[in-house]
Amino acid sequence: MIDTEKVMQALKAHEAEMIAIRHDIHMHPETSYEEFRTSQLVADKLTEWGIEFERGIAGTGLVAVIKGNRPGNRAVGLRADMDALNMVETNTFAHRSTIPNKMHGCGHDGHTAMMLHAARYLKNNPDFAGTVNCIFQPAEEGGAGGLKMIEEGLFERFPCDAVYSLHNKPGLPVGKFVTRNGPQLACADSWTITLHGTGGHGGAPEKSTDTTIALAQLILGIQTIISRNVPALETAVLSIGTVHGGMSFNVMPSEIVITGTTRCHKPEIRDLLEKRLTEISHAAAAMSGCTATVDYQRGYPPLINTRAETDKAILAAAAVSGMDNVDGDNPPINAADDFAYMLQVRPGCNVMLGQGDDPKWKNNHMPGYDFNDEIISIGAAYWVSIVDQELNTVD
Ligand SMILES: [Zn+2]
Ligand SMILES: [Zn+2]
Repeated sequence: MIDTEKVMQALKAHEAEMIAIRHDIHMHPETSYEEFRTSQLVADKLTEWGIEFERGIAGTGLVAVIKGNRPGNRAVGLRADMDALNMVETNTFAHRSTIPNKMHGCGHDGHTAMMLHAARYLKNNPDFAGTVNCIFQPAEEGGAGGLKMIEEGLFERFPCDAVYSLHNKPGLPVGKFVTRNGPQLACADSWTITLHGTGGHGGAPEKSTDTTIALAQLILGIQTIISRNVPALETAVLSIGTVHGGMSFNVMPSEIVITGTTRCHKPEIRDLLEKRLTEISHAAAAMSGCTATVDYQRGYPPLINTRAETDKAILAAAAVSGMDNVDGDNPPINAADDFAYMLQVRPGCNVMLGQGDDPKWKNNHMPGYDFNDEIISIGAAYWVSIVDQELNTVD
């Protein structure tokens, strides 16, 4: 177990500098695959601190490689995301966004600074056996930057026996960690159903096929997937977001387009949702003599932590914040994260770290949100602690 006091003391010595880096990134938010300045800033800092790295993985992605001073073949991957969101920031503090309509509304500025903080500590204190790969990824917010890095050979170029990630969590007390073994975050799929009929005169429906009746059957029909097809002890949600059709009160539309989202925590439930949504769409259309086309788009997969690595994450978090401040069996939530792709190919665990309460940022993605700098060293200490859990073998 790490000597938390010693680690925190060393981290605190650089904390002000790390907060300044975080504020700099916050002021210059960059979205999906356009994290050029952020990526350059990370590269500059790593160079300044003598840390080896490679860049240009999935465009703006970088991997910093830190070797321990004890022999060991094991390697661990620590992942931070760097991208911001397309949204308007309402904060008025000095480090608010300087880029119109872009904002670090999810705290990835904090994740990047935290990882730099940890990398610098590990470079200066390489008392471990093996290799740490600090993965700075682009495009977490919908762009699947993590998947792109994998496709560009992330784990072949930087072998990792296990991977870990950390996300800040508003509403949870500062320094409290939550995670769980198994499914933790949901898949986020979207779909478009188009109903096709002849359309026709509202006064003579017998001469037409009516997409509005198919729509009514469809909306109620697909809700039965959750109540009748998904087993009662499993979780899933299905919501319709848009319905578009028709132009005139006396003309039945020949086409209606419906879009929505489905979320769940297990691959087999995801398959079931796609299958039943497709079947019911065709059946509802057929009842009215119409046809349906279904375009089901799979988004991020469910994020599923593995047992052994979750246990290590819990111990690592407990070393930093005390076991009383770690909930290792926190219920799953319906948010998604593309770290899920890394967990499809490597064992690992995602934790969430509380950043306290503030009416302005009850949640991520709110216009008044800001990463809480109070957790910058706590998060870095967690990374150090994970390395201790993974690479503290004595040869
Ligand atoms: Zn987000
Ligand atoms: Zn996020």
